[in-house]
Amino acid sequence: QFHMIKHEDLTWRESLGQGSFTHISRGSKTDQWDGVTHSTEVLLKVLDANHKNCWESFFEAASLMSQISHKHLLLVYGISVHKSKNIMVQEFVKHGALDLYLKRSTSVSVSWKLDVAKQLACALNFLEEKNIAHGNICAKNLLLAREGDPSADNSPFIKLSDPGISMALLGKDVVLDRIPWVAPEVLDTLEIELECDKWSFGSTLWEIFNNGEAPLQGLDPIQKQQFYEHFSNLPALEWTELADLIIQCMQYQPELRPSCRSIIRQLNSLITSDYEILHATGTHPK
Ligand code: ATP
Ligand code: MG
Repeated sequence: QFHMIKHEDLTWRESLGQGSFTHISRGSKTDQWDGVTHSTEVLLKVLDANHKNCWESFFEAASLMSQISHKHLLLVYGISVHKSKNIMVQEFVKHGALDLYLKRSTSVSVSWKLDVAKQLACALNFLEEKNIAHGNICAKNLLLAREGDPSADNSPFIKLSDPGISMALLGKDVVLDRIPWVAPEVLDTLEIELECDKWSFGSTLWEIFNNGEAPLQGLDPIQKQQFYEHFSNLPALEWTELADLIIQCMQYQPELRPSCRSIIRQLNSLITSDYEILHATGTHPK
């Protein structure tokens, strides 16, 4: 299902931190074509040694990403196994995770954010057509390949990363921590359906339009769980049309969530100037 990469073809560079049961580093991989050595910058995701039992799920995520190809889906080059180390070798995306990018950038225009939202919807539409549920959509898993000009009308370019380890293996604490990205029904079933991604999309929209701020930040796991038990909604965005789309995506009844076609249609009908007028006259400083 996936390409095996020789460990000796990998070079390790600086560490980029921890993920869910993973450690992440920058590196490079060398290939020989026609007797010439080529080097490609890569991202190396290593499964934690104390979670080795998750290897099947980890490889499944790699295999999923290797089997499908779309401009807004991250490229996975393959897997490397060295002694007891399991490594996913993927495309290194220059500007990193979108949540961090939005947090450190001071002026990102609404049209830039809307472009990102449309690109994610486009990736989801592709997955929906293929009947593939992703299961881990959030701004952290959107990687920014091209920055564009965030304050002008120069488009960014994003790629959706791999879903990582299955929710069923991650444990209750991690799943609760993923509230409000994880759809409420997943808490009971731990199974991912297509509709779950719509919910996560809604939550991710909220995050993007709040400059990478995590929704429900500061709530402890019990409070997060109560948020779902009370069928609560995230605080509404000022932009009513967008707020309405988020509400539709984050319907507690999965079958009521919109199709990707409908999401795309609604995003295309949003006119950023409406929002900018609201801003110019309104109350909220950027
Ligand atoms: P999860 O399965 O929960 O998504 P993970 O193992 O994928 O966990 P993340 O938390 O998503 O780990 O990623 C950690 C950090 O690594 C991100 O915040 C981002 O900065 C960086 N990163 C991840 N993938 C890439 C990539 N392909 N290119 C560049 N940076 C990346
Ligand atoms: Mg990730």
